[in-house]
Amino acid sequence: MSEHSTYGFTTTILHSDRQKDIEHGSPHKPIHTSVTFGYTDSRDLAAVFQGKQSGYRYGRQGNPTVSALEDKITKMEDGASSICFATGMAAIGALFQALLRNGDQVVSSSFLFGNTNSLWQTVEAQGVDVAFVDATDVANVAAAITPATRMVFVETIANPRTQIADLKRIGDFCRERGILYVVDNTMTSPYLFRPKKVGAGLVVNSLTKSIAGHGNVLGGAITDTGLYDWSAFPNIAANFRKQPSAQQGMAQVRAKALRDFGASLAPDAAHQIAVGAETIALRLERECVNAMALAKMLEADPRVAVVHYPGLPSHPQHALASELFRAYGALFSFELQPAIDCFDYLNRLKLAINATHLGDTRTLVIPVAHTIFFEMGAERRAAMGIADSLIRVSVGIEDTQDLLNDFSAALDT
Ligand SMILES: *Cc1c(COP(=O)(O)O)cnc(C)c1O
Repeated sequence: MSEHSTYGFTTTILHSDRQKDIEHGSPHKPIHTSVTFGYTDSRDLAAVFQGKQSGYRYGRQGNPTVSALEDKITKMEDGASSICFATGMAAIGALFQALLRNGDQVVSSSFLFGNTNSLWQTVEAQGVDVAFVDATDVANVAAAITPATRMVFVETIANPRTQIADLKRIGDFCRERGILYVVDNTMTSPYLFRPKKVGAGLVVNSLTKSIAGHGNVLGGAITDTGLYDWSAFPNIAANFRKQPSAQQGMAQVRAKALRDFGASLAPDAAHQIAVGAETIALRLERECVNAMALAKMLEADPRVAVVHYPGLPSHPQHALASELFRAYGALFSFELQPAIDCFDYLNRLKLAINATHLGDTRTLVIPVAHTIFFEMGAERRAAMGIADSLIRVSVGIEDTQDLLNDFSAALDT
């Protein structure tokens, strides 16, 4: 198959490996377990080390199986290049390690994945100021910018309350001001939304979630969309300035974060993620249908106090979600009337599993204030709109009626 830009999302992923050298006719990129790579001519080895020739040197910096996945992620995001990491958090940590310096400032959405929130506290203790803003309005982002701002960081749909960042206007603002715009696309995935469309320079994905999809492997990725002009980024070291400006950012991330901190994705994991990714469109289509059906049913039930799902017209950013996303996602959260204890309700569910994680084929439920958002404390939870009784649901691919029956039977006490 030759490079063909008009193929659809799934066709492109399925045939991605065949656009490069095919080893032994294998439709899957084989799993290369070698940690090192030998050269017949020692001068080639030297040329690879000096960046004059492309090639692999050592597994921590690159591996053919991982490269094939990077290529797939790049195609999914319509980007220029990608780097994979052992986890989504390693990918986010890499932004800090490779691109930020003492005295810099980051403007971040305050509606954040809990561990990213925790990471920003670490970053603050190491001399980078983080301004948390309500990113559902670009005005709040604009007001927080200082001469030291190096990055604006947002998630697409926030977990667990499903607030949606003012994605397009923030993108326009960052472009005008020449600021690097980083979007964590995990909650939407490149199937529902491509941040490049709203001007993101870098896109982060936790591959652990919808992309791998089966809850059996961890991974993360950063994709450079090609939109950001790295020649304007102050923190590129002289060494990487020698590269063409389009490659400077990712060259520095690969060396300074992946190579030096070493959270590399294993080739076996890359293979598992690549197999999972083949069905992301099929899974998400079913998951979004299931999520909508459950959200509608619960919203209509008088025993439910509130449902947060971007697919409901009652959601504050419903219009924005309709404009930007292919569908409304596989995650929603809700609160029961105070008379029903959320733990008792969860214990009455038969199919849905009491577990953290999201973007899995199986439906998972969790009382967020008591688990994943417990560590951050009551004050920050209140600021994020997380009530003590809030239940988060990551909707799987089960048959729709089975899920409706499970969630509705559990309402009967
Ligand atoms: C899960 C998640 C991450 C972290 O990914 P891991 O692969 O678990 O490290 C980052 N951002 C968002 C929005 C997530 O949901």
